[in-house]
Amino acid sequence: MNIFNLAIANLLHRPTTQRFPNREAPTGVFRGHVTMDPDLCVTCGICAQVCVSAAIQVVPLEADCTWTYDPAACTFCGSCVEHCPVDALTQAADRGSACALPGDQALTITVTYPACSECGRPAMPYSEALLQLALPGAADELRHRARLCGDCRQKSSVAAMKKAFGGPDSTERQIHGR
Ligand code: SF4
Ligand code: SF4
Repeated sequence: MNIFNLAIANLLHRPTTQRFPNREAPTGVFRGHVTMDPDLCVTCGICAQVCVSAAIQVVPLEADCTWTYDPAACTFCGSCVEHCPVDALTQAADRGSACALPGDQALTITVTYPACSECGRPAMPYSEALLQLALPGAADELRHRARLCGDCRQKSSVAAMKKAFGGPDSTERQIHGR
């Protein structure tokens, strides 16, 4: 096809791009705004680590953790959704609305830490799905320990070692091979 025929064909052809915002977004494949389910999130921060646009911030605090997402910085690549180990992230199936400035539509969700099952202080969120992924067939004792705060987990581990090795002196003997 020579250049003139190509130009005429292009002039007669309908546009192949979608005119925003008049046309419907395609269904099933559209990657829109990201949102997070605080009941599933374990505050691991992987989504923030893999986001090359720095559109997600995960900030751990004393009793909770904030997850913030700015769609103005997002490229809608879907990498955060793909890497979340507990499937806490989803992308909307529509394009959402445009915003004028970075931060205009920033979304902050708070994940409240659950209470330690021993002392009641805030503990890291527990996920059975994640435990199964890391340690398939994990024992109930490990499951119990995963629900404890850092201090109680350490005490529980020391108590388990003492029980297994018969006290601090014999524990030390076992460790040093005496
Ligand atoms: S979709 Fe991509 S750019 Fe947007 S928050 Fe997730 S990783 Fe970042
Ligand atoms: S949303 Fe997923 S990847 Fe992000 S902090 Fe929560 S559990 Fe981790």
